[in-house]
Amino acid sequence: MMPLTKRTRLTVWLLFLSKSLLIESSAHQHGHIDTSFQTPSHDSTQPPPESAAAFDPFDDHVKVNWDDTYLYIETNSLPEHEMMVGITAWNQQVPLPQNYTGTNRWQLPLHPVPATKPIIGREALFRGAIAIAVNGVPIFNPIKNDGKTDTNLAGELDEFGGHAGRADDYHYHLPPTFLNERLGDEQPIGFGLDGYPLYGYNEPDGTPARNLDQLNGHKHGDLGYHYHSSKDYPYLNGGLRGKVTVNNDEVEQPRTQPVRPFTQPLRGAKIVAFNQTAPNAYSLGYDYRGGRYTINYSVEDNGTVDFEFVDPKGNIETDTYRQKTSKDNRPPRGPKPDESSERRPPERTGGDQRQPWVKKHADELDANNDGTVALSEVMEEAKAIFMLQDQDGDRQLTLEEMTNIQPQRRSPVYGFLEKHNLEMDEDGDSKVSAKELADQFKQFFYESDLDNNGRLTPNELQ
Ligand SMILES: [Zn+2]
Ligand SMILES: [Zn+2]
Repeated sequence: MMPLTKRTRLTVWLLFLSKSLLIESSAHQHGHIDTSFQTPSHDSTQPPPESAAAFDPFDDHVKVNWDDTYLYIETNSLPEHEMMVGITAWNQQVPLPQNYTGTNRWQLPLHPVPATKPIIGREALFRGAIAIAVNGVPIFNPIKNDGKTDTNLAGELDEFGGHAGRADDYHYHLPPTFLNERLGDEQPIGFGLDGYPLYGYNEPDGTPARNLDQLNGHKHGDLGYHYHSSKDYPYLNGGLRGKVTVNNDEVEQPRTQPVRPFTQPLRGAKIVAFNQTAPNAYSLGYDYRGGRYTINYSVEDNGTVDFEFVDPKGNIETDTYRQKTSKDNRPPRGPKPDESSERRPPERTGGDQRQPWVKKHADELDANNDGTVALSEVMEEAKAIFMLQDQDGDRQLTLEEMTNIQPQRRSPVYGFLEKHNLEMDEDGDSKVSAKELADQFKQFFYESDLDNNGRLTPNELQ
C-alpha cells in the first residue's frame, strides 16, 4: 500500500463526496426497495446500545437499528473517501452502491459469546466479510478467496485498504485505521461479525496495544474482549473469537447483487484517478500500456447502470446493465406489462455488437419447439451438460472436465463452458460448482427476460 501523507489525505477527504450527495444516492438507490428505514424496529424509549454510538459519526449514510439481540446496519457500502486509486493489481471491477438494506442488512450480536473454538482467519473465512467498519464498509479477510494471497502485498488495494469485488462491491481488506484520525483512539473503527469491537493500533488511552492473541484480540481493564489493528498480518481481527453462523466458509451476511458478469484481471494497469462526477455518477481513470483509459459510469433511479469506456484515443464503448433486486430473481405470479419499459435488457453499442447468449442460441434452447425459451429449458440443459461433463461425479467441474473432455453431444452450454470455464468460478477454488454454473445461466436468462415471467417470447428474443 502506498503511504498516504496527511496532506493528500486531507485533500482526498475534502475533494470527495459531499455527504449530502451520498444520502441522495443511497435514497435513490434503495427508496423503492426499502421501507423499513422510516420505521425503526427498536423501542425509542430504550437507550441505544453502546455499539450503535460508534456508527453515529456516519449516520448520514449508515443507518443503525437494534432489538434485544442484534444491532442492524444498513449501508450502500460506499465510503466518504476516495476509492480505488493506487491499485496496481486490478480485476476491472468498479465500486457500485450495494443494497444492504431491509432484510439484506448487516447484523452484529449485541452480546457477543465466545465460541468453543475460535475461527482462525489464516485457515478459513476466505469468502465474504468478517467485519464491518463504522463508516458502513464491509471488511474482508486480508487473505483473498484463493486462501493464500495477501491482498495488501499483492497490490490489490487502494490507499484506504479497499477495492471493488466481483459484484462491483466496495470493501476493505485492511482495517480503516485512518478513521482514528477523525474519531480518536477511544472509538472502535469497526466490529467483527461476531460483535466484538475492532480498535486501531492503540488502546483507547492512546498507548500502543500489546499482548494480542492470534486473532489480534485481548481483554483488559473495563473493556471486554476486543480486537486491534496491526501493521502486519493479520492487520485486523485475524478470525472470529465469538460465535457466528458459517455456511460454505462464509459468515452469515447480506448478499451482494452483481449487475454484470465479473471481469478479468488487467495486468499492468494502475488506477490513478477516481471522482464522483454527479450524485450517482463516477469516473475512474487508469494507466495501461502508456495510455490513459477512463471508465465513466452512473446509476440511474431505476437501477440501470450505464458504463462508458474511453480509450486513450477517445474512442467510446458503452454498456448498460439493469440492477436487479432479490425480488427480480423470482418470476412474478402474473405478467406486469406496465413495468416492461423500465426493464431494459443489457445492450452493447459502439464497437462490440456481442449478442446475448440466450438470444444467440434461442433455437437450440427451445427444447419443445414452441417458439419461446423457458427458464426451465435453459436450466435443464445446463444441468444435463453439467452431469455429462462431471466425470468423477463430485458435483464440481474442473478446467479439465470443461475443456478437455469430449462433449457427448452438441450443446450451446458446452460451447460456453469450453470458452469461459473458470470465469464462472465465483469462490476462487478453481472449480465450477453446480450452483456457480446455475447462477451464470440464470443470469443470462433474466438479462433478456424483460417482464420477468420466466419465459422468453419471440419479442424478447429479437
Ligand atoms: Zn476483496
Ligand atoms: Zn486493547
